[in-house]
Amino acid sequence: MAKKTAGFEEKLLSGRALSKVMKSEIKQQVDSMIEAGKDRPHLAAVLVGDDGASETYVNHKVKMCAEVGFESTLVRLPETCSEEELMERIGELNADQTVHGFIVQLPLPKHIDVEKVTQAIDYKKDVDGFHPVNIGRMTQGMPAYLPATPYGIVQMLERHGVETSGKECVVLGRSNIVGTPMSILLSRSSKVGNCTVTLCHSRTQNIEQHVRRADILVVALGLPEFVSGDMVKEGVVVIDVGITRVKDASRKSGYRLLGDVKFEEVAPKASLITPVPGGVGPMTVVSLLMNTLKAANGEVY
Ligand code: NAP
Repeated sequence: MAKKTAGFEEKLLSGRALSKVMKSEIKQQVDSMIEAGKDRPHLAAVLVGDDGASETYVNHKVKMCAEVGFESTLVRLPETCSEEELMERIGELNADQTVHGFIVQLPLPKHIDVEKVTQAIDYKKDVDGFHPVNIGRMTQGMPAYLPATPYGIVQMLERHGVETSGKECVVLGRSNIVGTPMSILLSRSSKVGNCTVTLCHSRTQNIEQHVRRADILVVALGLPEFVSGDMVKEGVVVIDVGITRVKDASRKSGYRLLGDVKFEEVAPKASLITPVPGGVGPMTVVSLLMNTLKAANGEVY
């Protein structure tokens, strides 16, 4: 089967390609740190349960750490682990002087309160950028760990020279980890920012009318192929954050990954567009590495 991106190579915002460049930059910085006698950046990840997708994401993060010369630690806890047990491990990681930053992979089992967990992480080690202190500091334009996915998108727009100032930006989805921080970052007065932002969600009326106005469209819904070609205007820059596993018996894995955008219909009208996979996903991981590097260098706190 022909790749769906075939023929659109010049329009692709490839996170895969950019993340490679950024990883090699990070590796060079790590090499210089080691030469200067500094500590090797150390990222820890906590994985609760055995959800297939979470396992894949965490293993990938561990692999990326090795590629850039970071130390990494994977803490595995069973699906049945109590909130108290998880809190205890978080307390240990907060206190561990050798760990510069750590993440707790989401989603968590239903019996564990995600908000409590997020707030239990020392915000100075919160390299996922989910702690309210980091979100608050980001909102005020203060140094902070930016949430990894929006940070990756900002990097992608900046490195591809996408002009954002004065543009109409429409964000679909208002989650705490993607849509909401994305809308804040793009509306801030900063290099990548100064957009006029509309944030849409499940209660938005006439969503198509909003989408059609967008010069920059960020879609983070988790609804496969929600955005169709007739919804967007010519020249739009499209960032498709969605990743949904859809059953596909013809694949060895038994599934394929779909974004929130109908690529075949939207790509011909777009000036730039992220593919799924290979778009936002790799940038999210590289942002986590960037945050960890900052943590090891004491650049934020
Ligand atoms: P989420 O927490 O499930 O939030 C989904 C958002 O979509 C909510 O704000 C919801 O509105 C809105 N929504 C749902 N149905 C809608 C509709 N019919 N019309 C308009 N808005 C609607 O999702 P998330 O965590 O942000 O993730 C979104 C997608 O991005 C998922 O596919 C996820 O796997 C993917 N993701 C990818 C990466 C990456 O690195 N590539 C990282 C994170 C997430 P309400 O608030 O009103 O409920």
